[in-house]
Amino acid sequence: MVLAELGGKIAYGLSKLTSSSIVDAQALEDLLSSITRALIEADVNVNLVMQLKINIQERVGVAIEKHQEEHGNGSNDATLLSLQKMVQKAVMDELTVLLTPKKSKAYKMKRNKPNVMLFVGLQGAGKTTSIAKFANYYQRKGWKVAMVCADTFRAGAFDQLKQNATKLRIPFYGSYTEADPVLIAEEGVEQFVKDKYEIIIVDTSGRHKQEGALFEEMQEISAAIRPDNTIFVIDATQGQAIYDQAMGFREAVNVGSVIVTKLDGHAKGGGALSAVAATQSPIMFLGSGEKFDDFELFSAQSFVSKLLG
Ligand code: GDP
Repeated sequence: MVLAELGGKIAYGLSKLTSSSIVDAQALEDLLSSITRALIEADVNVNLVMQLKINIQERVGVAIEKHQEEHGNGSNDATLLSLQKMVQKAVMDELTVLLTPKKSKAYKMKRNKPNVMLFVGLQGAGKTTSIAKFANYYQRKGWKVAMVCADTFRAGAFDQLKQNATKLRIPFYGSYTEADPVLIAEEGVEQFVKDKYEIIIVDTSGRHKQEGALFEEMQEISAAIRPDNTIFVIDATQGQAIYDQAMGFREAVNVGSVIVTKLDGHAKGGGALSAVAATQSPIMFLGSGEKFDDFELFSAQSFVSKLLG
C-alpha cells in the first residue's frame, strides 16, 4: 500500500535522527527535507507541507540550538533522548494537524433516536459500497440500521443496494417504479423512524461531474428529510485535486462528514486526506477495498501513529 510507503519514509527519517548521537540544526534540516519530500511525493499540497515544516521548526528549533550550546555533541544520554522524543512528538503532532479540520466537529451518533444519514457524492465514488460498509459497521456494534435507496437516476442502483442489504440482513426501502427520489427518501425515512430504527441511511444518485441538477436534487432531498448528518463520499485516487470537488459539495449541501474511498494502493492518498481536512470537513471513515470489511473509522491521531508504525 502506497500510504505505507509514505509512512515508511517518514519513519526512516525519524529513526535516523533518533539513533544518532548528534541532534543539531543540520540533523533537523535533513529530517525536515526528507519529510517534505515524502509528503510532496504523496501529493500533499505544497503550501500545507511548507506550513508543517515551519511548525516543526518553530517547535523544536530553539531547543536544539540550546542543547547544542549547553552540551555540544557529547551530551549525556538523558538530555539527548528527551530532545529526540521532542522532535518525534512534534512530527507526529504536526502530521495530525495536517489531517484535522480546524473548525468543524464530527457528528456523534445518538442511541435510541433516529440518526438520519444522507449520503452524497459523484457516480463511481464508492457511495453504494460505502453505505453497505457503514451499515455493516454499525450493525455489528449493535445499532438498529436501515437503508433507503433514493437513487432513481442510475439504472441498477436499487438492485445494488438491495443485494448488499440482503447479504447483510439489513432492512431496505426503495422502488422500481417511483421516479421521484424526494418522495422515496421521505417515505423510506418516515417508515424507518416509525419502526424505531437508530441509523437510517439514505443513498442518493450521483452524476459523472458536479452539476446543477445533482445539487438541486440533493438540496430537495435534504430539505425533505432534514438529515442529522450529510456524508460526502469521495474517491481518493485524484489526490489533492479533490479539494475543489469537496468544496463544491460543502457549499451545495451541509456536508458534516466525509468518507474517503479507494485508499488501497494509491499514490495520492496523502494528498486526498489532507485536501479533505483543508475543506474543514471531518473525515469519518476510510475505504480501502471492495469488501464490506475494508473500512475503518478515521482518527487523525491513530492514523498517524499507524502510518509511522
Ligand atoms: P457509487 O456510484 O458512488 O455508488 O459507487 P459504487 O459503490 O458502485 O462503487 C464504484 C466502484 O468502486 C465499484 O466497483 C466498487 O467496488 C469500487 N469501490 C468502492 N469503494 C472502494 C474502495 O475503497 N477500494 C476499491 N479498490 N474499490 C472501491
